[in-house]
Amino acid sequence: MKAEVNLLDFDRAALTAWFETQGEKPFRARQVLRWVHRRGADDFEQMSDVARSLREKLAAQAVVRALPVVRSGLSADGTRKWLLDVGKGEAVETVFIPEPDRATLCISTQAGCAVNCRFCATGMQGFSRNLSTAEIIGQLWMAERQMRAAAPAAAHGAESTRAISNVVLMGMGEPLQNYDAVLPALRLMLDDDAYGLSRRRVTVSTSGMVPMMDRLARDCPVALAVSLHAPNDALRSELVPLNRKYPLGELLAACRRYLVHSPRDFITFEYVLLAGVNDSDRHARELVQRVRDISCKFNLIPFNPFPGSKLRRPDAQRVRDFAAVLADAGLVATVRRTRGDDIDAACGQLAGAVRDRTDLAARRAAAIPAVTIPIVPVAASAP
Ligand code: SAH
Ligand code: SF4
Repeated sequence: MKAEVNLLDFDRAALTAWFETQGEKPFRARQVLRWVHRRGADDFEQMSDVARSLREKLAAQAVVRALPVVRSGLSADGTRKWLLDVGKGEAVETVFIPEPDRATLCISTQAGCAVNCRFCATGMQGFSRNLSTAEIIGQLWMAERQMRAAAPAAAHGAESTRAISNVVLMGMGEPLQNYDAVLPALRLMLDDDAYGLSRRRVTVSTSGMVPMMDRLARDCPVALAVSLHAPNDALRSELVPLNRKYPLGELLAACRRYLVHSPRDFITFEYVLLAGVNDSDRHARELVQRVRDISCKFNLIPFNPFPGSKLRRPDAQRVRDFAAVLADAGLVATVRRTRGDDIDAACGQLAGAVRDRTDLAARRAAAIPAVTIPIVPVAASAP
């Protein structure tokens, strides 16, 4: 039987090593990297500057394959969602969010999540499996191809015209609980022969995996978002069970260490606002005290309700007042745009027969407006 490797599983070092085992020179790895990631090629025949003998060898042993798209949807504002089949009747989601000054892709790193945060639909459903490097970077590979195909005027198959300027690991899953697969994917995002994104345009969001934050600082110090959600251990342990293992003091110390590696940066603290739980002025003032000596910005996310959850979103005035306490203390606090209480119907349509456990996760990250999302056919491969 044909032994198959998926080239999307390899960052530059791994691809070079694999080519060496094939008796090929390192520059071949660079050529193939550029074809696969810069041009979105999956057909070795297209790789015209690669020797025919190598193309044949690759065709016999390797593939370039992302997760299959079950369905894709396009909202009126250009936000696009893809539902990806991860097997066993389950799916994860990737979301493309265009804005005037950037275009962000929100990607998933696990099917389900083991952290089990109380306010999170993904967490409530439990953990299924880690995604592989190919399945993670494959989301960017696929979305870039499809967005270029959707805007052919800008593309013309050119290497340099990128549709996606920013990536956030804020879809389904806890990225730092799948570190070994996430790291090569991050390296590919930053590699000039792959996606060439600057490290400030790639954001890892974590619920507080302290040891892995230190490893990330050493291995690949991209922008870091930390899901805080509470100003003290008693409340945080209730909302984010991982806090019992890595309490706030340790988490904030890890944030300070992270900034030592990138002193001109800041940590983004995410804070889901839950009515009557963590949204009072007192909580805000306590928060100010806790983060006083950390270079940071706050991203306040009014809770997105989901079926089965008894938690509620605070009203707009409470959100403004909470933000004002932070702002008065000199902290930058933005409220994430969350329209969309009626999107569930559309999400149901999108998920179809496949269990879509990510939809809320992707929506809260993407803040997709509440419009009905028509199902559109998945575009054909990029030219
Ligand atoms: N597991 C990582 C990244 C994915 S979650 C993490 O927790 O950071 C991305 C963000 O969405 C996190 O800040 C998470 O707390 C938030 N979130 C989860 N469920 C939410 C909900 N129902 N409403 C609003 N934000 C939510
Ligand atoms: Fe996992 Fe993040 Fe959801 Fe918590 S908020 S359960 S860490 S995906």
